[in-house]
Amino acid sequence: MKTACLISTGTELLLGTTNDSNSVFLATSLLERGIKVIGKTVVGDSRETIKMAFASALGLADMVISSGGLGPTRDDLTKEVACQVMGCEMAINQAEVKRLEDYFARRQRPMPESNLKQALFPAEAEIIFNPLGTAPGMYLKKDNKVLILLPGPPREMEHMFKNEIEPRLERDFPQAVNRVIRKTIKILGPGESQLEKILDGVIDDSPELSMALLAVDGEIHIKLTADGQDINHSNGLMEKACQSIKEALGRHIVGYDNDTLLSVVAACLANTGKKLAVAESCTGGLLAKMITDLPGSSEYFWGSVTSYSNEAKMLYLNVKQETLEQYGAVSPEAAREMAQGMQKQSGADLALSITGIAGPDGGTKDKPVGLVYICLAAGEFLQVKEMHFVGNRESIRILAAKTALDLLRRYLKNGG
Ligand code: AMP
Ligand code: MG
Repeated sequence: MKTACLISTGTELLLGTTNDSNSVFLATSLLERGIKVIGKTVVGDSRETIKMAFASALGLADMVISSGGLGPTRDDLTKEVACQVMGCEMAINQAEVKRLEDYFARRQRPMPESNLKQALFPAEAEIIFNPLGTAPGMYLKKDNKVLILLPGPPREMEHMFKNEIEPRLERDFPQAVNRVIRKTIKILGPGESQLEKILDGVIDDSPELSMALLAVDGEIHIKLTADGQDINHSNGLMEKACQSIKEALGRHIVGYDNDTLLSVVAACLANTGKKLAVAESCTGGLLAKMITDLPGSSEYFWGSVTSYSNEAKMLYLNVKQETLEQYGAVSPEAAREMAQGMQKQSGADLALSITGIAGPDGGTKDKPVGLVYICLAAGEFLQVKEMHFVGNRESIRILAAKTALDLLRRYLKNGG
């Protein structure tokens, strides 16, 4: 596998005022092309440290890609220092001088003398045109090493990488292209350790197929990377892994890659033509907000009642006073009556209800903070789920709303 080192230059990156997002973009893009990033360095605008970074990176990897420091000012040193480390002479490139002169002429501004250094390049380098800024990039292949210099502004850097660098990498490293495949499988339900147990023995972690678990907002994302001998081999490895995970996890799988819990539920609702109404207590309208965050939700979303008080539960949802008195507002009985009442009032096919204790106060020994009842009513079908969430008020509410959506997803996908 071909290897790369990344260098980000810019004092602002060391001060913490700018996030080094360029190296994240580059590492992701390179891995997709079958090039492995084996190191990355962030250095300030200082000749000494830039020199050290290039010298060690060129010693380690097949290619070095840097971003930043290609501007006209005194602190823009990357090109000069990198070419020195590569042992390349730089000379004024007349075509670049012309381009710069035109650039300034169009803006009716005199060209500062310092800008001329942007036209300095080694004769053997390919100059990479920057359509979104003044600083051109550079691609240089020498002594079995590739040196790639890109400007710092992410928009310019990404555009040049996609349009100019990727085709050159494909030209110079054809065997590296398109070998690595990645896939994300999104899970809701089992916890991380439970999931690890279920998956034990399902996937053998190997250099060719690696798996990582990532907790994201109550979901767990299984990140798979297949890196076979070629694209077909990688495809085969990935398919086999996905199949095994599907068999082991079944309905816990929410979706893949760009799927979200909401997009999956929305697609199911749109397909079945069913309407949804929701009755919320402790989430205070969060579920309705989530649902309506997706454009086009009016097609399947009837609306919601935020029945925070007992009065509202009785007035709008016909929850019985005796139920509230006997069992309390946070009870399976109240959740059931909220969902049934919502279904009746709206005439929607499906109704979800949420009632619980989001905290930080209001918990008791019997009903601690994090206790949430979620109910789905679908015609005659009725399901109540008791959840014990751990977290602060915000995360308990998010988990409650997502679990309600997940209850609906499981019903729509599998009939309960
Ligand atoms: P430069 O090409 O060094 O003049 O960088 C211009 C601007 O690009 C900087 O002021 C930053 O805002 C941005 N920039 C530079 N390096 C990075 C990086 N590694 N990640 C994200 N933004 C960057
Ligand atoms: Mg800079």
